[in-house]
Parts: sequence; C-alpha cells; structure tokens
Amino acid sequence: MGTEKRRVLIVEDEKNIAMLLSFNLGRAGFETDVAEDGEIGLRKALGDKFDIVLLDIMLPKLDGFKVLEGIRTRSDVPVIMVTARDDEKDKILGLENGADDYITKPFSMNEVIARIRANIRRHKDEVVGNADGDGGVITVRGLSIDKNRYAVRMGDAELELSKKEYELLLFLMQHPGVPFSREDLLDKVWGYGDFIGDVNTVDVTVSRLRKKLEKDPSNPSYLITKRGVGYYIQ
Ligand code: CA
Repeated sequence: MGTEKRRVLIVEDEKNIAMLLSFNLGRAGFETDVAEDGEIGLRKALGDKFDIVLLDIMLPKLDGFKVLEGIRTRSDVPVIMVTARDDEKDKILGLENGADDYITKPFSMNEVIARIRANIRRHKDEVVGNADGDGGVITVRGLSIDKNRYAVRMGDAELELSKKEYELLLFLMQHPGVPFSREDLLDKVWGYGDFIGDVNTVDVTVSRLRKKLEKDPSNPSYLITKRGVGYYIQ
C-alpha cells in the first residue's frame, strides 16, 4: 500500500471551517486542497486526482447538490456531503444523488477523520472487488445481482439502485439466510466502526430497497426482518 498520502478535496466557503479541516486532516496524515466555491470545487474534483471529496452544501456559485451531480457525470470518487441543517440531511437521504455519506455540522474532527477513512477503505475494496472477475452473478428466486456489471435484475427488468442500496443488497445476497444486525451492516456495508454512524441509515436504505424489490414492501418476501436481530435475504 505504500506511504503515499491520501488526498482530500475540501469544498467549503467558510474559511474558518476550511482551515480547521485542512489543519486537522494534515495532522492526521492526509494531503488536502481547498476550493472556496462550487465552481472551483467541481473543476478541481474532475481535474485532479483525489481519494475523497468533502462537500459543503451551501456554497457560492454552485451548491453542493449541483457539484455532486457534476462530479457523478464523470467520476466515482467517494463524496461526503456536509450538511448544516436537518432538511438538507433529509434531502441527502431521500435523493439518490450519488453521495456516499453525510456529516452534520457541527462535527467533531474525530468523526470526520473516521468517516473519511471508512469511505476511502470501502471505495478501495469495491474497486478491487470489481476487478477480480470471479464470475459473480448471485441469484435468489429471479432476483439477480451481477457484481462485475454492477447490475441488479428482477426477472428481465433491470432495477435502478443507489450505490448504498446496491452494496447492502450485494452483501446480504452473498450471505443468504444469514441475519445481520444493523450495527453489523453499518460496519460491513458502510465501513463504520462502533462510534460513528446512525443505525437508522440502515433502516432507511432497507425501506428504499424494499420499495424497489418487493411486490408488497410492507410484507416483504426477499429482504426479511428477523425480529430482535436484524435483516437477511431469503
Ligand atoms: Ca457553506
């Protein structure tokens, strides 16, 4: 893996926050670059090689959602959205906009660093996983997931899943019949350790997946709740 530093792009217009992030991430061994508005942020994210982008939402010139849209037309770099308000958080959870994660202001530096590491690690595992070419189609009663093509089908119909919906489904389908707790899933799918992450994120993703997979999402036949334990695929 070498000692090459991971590069973080900080897109943030509040100078104090940008400096605080830059300073602390530098101390934690990252190399950082700061963009002060959305346009510069998008240009840098697409023009330069970063391992992860920390993206504020309220930005001059181009807001964070627009920047993310622009990034996703050409890049799958992990993006952590930084929200200041609950309604922004709702928008991130509600939209399938290609964000990998979100952090709410005010945040602790430990949390930011832990999430950056978790998301970079997940992304790398994914890239390795995609490249290993081990055939990789898993099928459960007409529901199939193709690891190499990043595609999910129900019968002949291709399903449009967000990144996390896909990753959660893939993980559960790789372990059919085995229930995992929400904490386990946060750890395995989101890459979070014990002290970060909100288990509700898992529930939200499960509920969105059910709407796409199940004939009757309130009475699921694929993605099952194991009472007092968690979730599994049957
Ligand atoms: Ca801002």
